Amino acid sequence: MAEFDRKVKGGRWSQEMETLLEADEKWMRIALTEAARAREAGEVPIGAVVVRDGDLLAAAHNSPISLHDPSAHAELLAIRRAADAVGNYRLPGTTLYVTLEPCLMCAGAILHARVERLVFGAADPKNGAVASLFRLLDDRRLNHIVSVTEGILRDECSEILSGFFREKRLASPP
Ligand SMILES: [Zn+2]
Repeated sequence: MAEFDRKVKGGRWSQEMETLLEADEKWMRIALTEAARAREAGEVPIGAVVVRDGDLLAAAHNSPISLHDPSAHAELLAIRRAADAVGNYRLPGTTLYVTLEPCLMCAGAILHARVERLVFGAADPKNGAVASLFRLLDDRRLNHIVSVTEGILRDECSEILSGFFREKRLASPP
C-alpha cells in the first residue's frame, strides 16, 4: 500500500485507482475466507468470488476431493454458481477474484463465460495459464480478452497454500 501511495498522488484518477485497489482487496479477503473453508475440508486452499457492480454473485472454494470431481476448482464452481444466480451462461461485466492464478481449464471457463476482469493473488509457476506458463487471457487469436490484475494480497494468498502443504508434510513424513 505504501508503494501505491507513492506512485499516485492527488487527482481524480488516483482516487479512482485507490478505490479500485480497496475494492480489490476487500473482495480478495472474501476469496481468502473461501480458501480457508477449503483448508478446513482438507482441500488445497483456494477460494474465488464473482462480483458485478459491487455485488457478490457467487463464492466458492476448491472442492475436487469432496465432490469427486477433477473440475471442481474454486473458479469453475464460482462461475457456475454466478451463471446460475443471474440465469445467463455468460457473465459480462463481472470480475472474478481468485487467490491463485487460474489453470488451463479455469482460464478456458473464464473465456467461455466472458468474464470481463480477473484478479488473482499468488502466481502459480507450475500450472498458471494467465501469466506463468501460458497467457491465455490476452491471446489476440481468441475472440475475448480479459483484463487481468495480479498480486492483490499476494502474500496472504500464497501463505495459506504454503502453510497447508507444510502441515501436510509434517503430518506424513517421508
Ligand atoms: Zn483451475
